[in-house]
Amino acid sequence: MRAVAGLLLMIATAWPSTLGEARDRATGPPETLASERAVTSNVPVESEFPIDFLGVLYEGDVEGGQLRFRHDGRWGSWVELHDDGAEVADHWASGLVSGSDAEAYQVRVPPGARAARAVVINTTDGQPQAASAAAGVCPDTTAVVTRCEWGADESLMTWTPEFRPAQKLTVHHTATTNGSADPAATVRAIYRYQAVDRGFGDIGYQYLIDGSGRVYEGRYSGTDSRPGHDAGGGKVVTAAHVGGFNAGNTGIALLGNFTSVESTTAARGALTGLLSELTTRHGIDPHGTSEYVNPDSGATKMVANISGHRDWAPTECPGGTLYARLPTIRDGVDTVAPTISEVTAAPRRWAATVTWATDEPATSRVRYRPRGVSEWRSTSRDATLVTSHTAEVTALARHTTYQYQVISADAAGHPAISAIASFTTR
Ligand SMILES: [Zn+2]
Repeated sequence: MRAVAGLLLMIATAWPSTLGEARDRATGPPETLASERAVTSNVPVESEFPIDFLGVLYEGDVEGGQLRFRHDGRWGSWVELHDDGAEVADHWASGLVSGSDAEAYQVRVPPGARAARAVVINTTDGQPQAASAAAGVCPDTTAVVTRCEWGADESLMTWTPEFRPAQKLTVHHTATTNGSADPAATVRAIYRYQAVDRGFGDIGYQYLIDGSGRVYEGRYSGTDSRPGHDAGGGKVVTAAHVGGFNAGNTGIALLGNFTSVESTTAARGALTGLLSELTTRHGIDPHGTSEYVNPDSGATKMVANISGHRDWAPTECPGGTLYARLPTIRDGVDTVAPTISEVTAAPRRWAATVTWATDEPATSRVRYRPRGVSEWRSTSRDATLVTSHTAEVTALARHTTYQYQVISADAAGHPAISAIASFTTR
């Protein structure tokens, strides 16, 4: 578990049983079923499998469209299509619309749309994946839901990762239907849509966050314990979420459409925690604004360090309600280490109980050494984030004076260490 994943750890403890099941299963998550067909406006199309998601793509300088589904022989009402926010010049793509196992669909695209096609995706009913995912065992390297854990079919990943120094953090929404009961299935659908149908070669965001506050690894960056980063953790993987400004720009997408609906408190809390971790790791001022320079193309733009997609390009993304929350989210980003107080030790014959307080939730560890010895020993790190800390120091010698210090790190990974104190065993 990386030290910086403290807050995510807290989230991990709230994971539902799905993750455990993923680990226990002898087989992997369902293979993604997908079918892409040319669109003829108003012509009903029967699907060969239940429709979980549908996206519409076309070329041309127009936008929008309508869609309706048929369930049990009855057509539903037409719904407007909204763009998915992953802008590419002269290409329009809708966000994925949930089909709720529809059997057929009809699409309308505006005059001027060329090469229109609809892609139908099912990420829940396919055969369990064989091969690599079939082992059903994902290395437990991080509190983020890894690609292995959400069931990425790595054969769809055709974009070799490139890494650049971190400059900006950009917030998105996925413009998918709100309130998914199976967010991992939505992540798989977005992955298929962006990697294959949109032609990116991978999912376009470095991270995604669901309504319960779970954080998902997005863009492939290797199988080490640092999602979104190179093995050293200092550089970020380039993804595809802001046209022309992707290198060194980390994209975090909340699952759903926040044009008029509010995001959940849990999702915004996880976003704030992730931003705390990333600004800490990369030394980014959460309230700063500076010139972004694309290290590959030289393109520049003056933009907030924590931005919304619409700060970069004319798009609705990340939605009006989420965008309006950005100032509060920036204020919530934690850049300060915890303050340690009330450090006490209660020694016994072969052990001591050390207690202390911190002014924000933080991890717990004690390092100690017999007086006159230079080498420190340490208790194991308790990653539970608390403000009242207790640690047992054991296997001590009797009638011996020990020096000790307590160490606590907050959710964003900011460490604090107390002054050296001492106790004497009985
Ligand atoms: Zn966006």
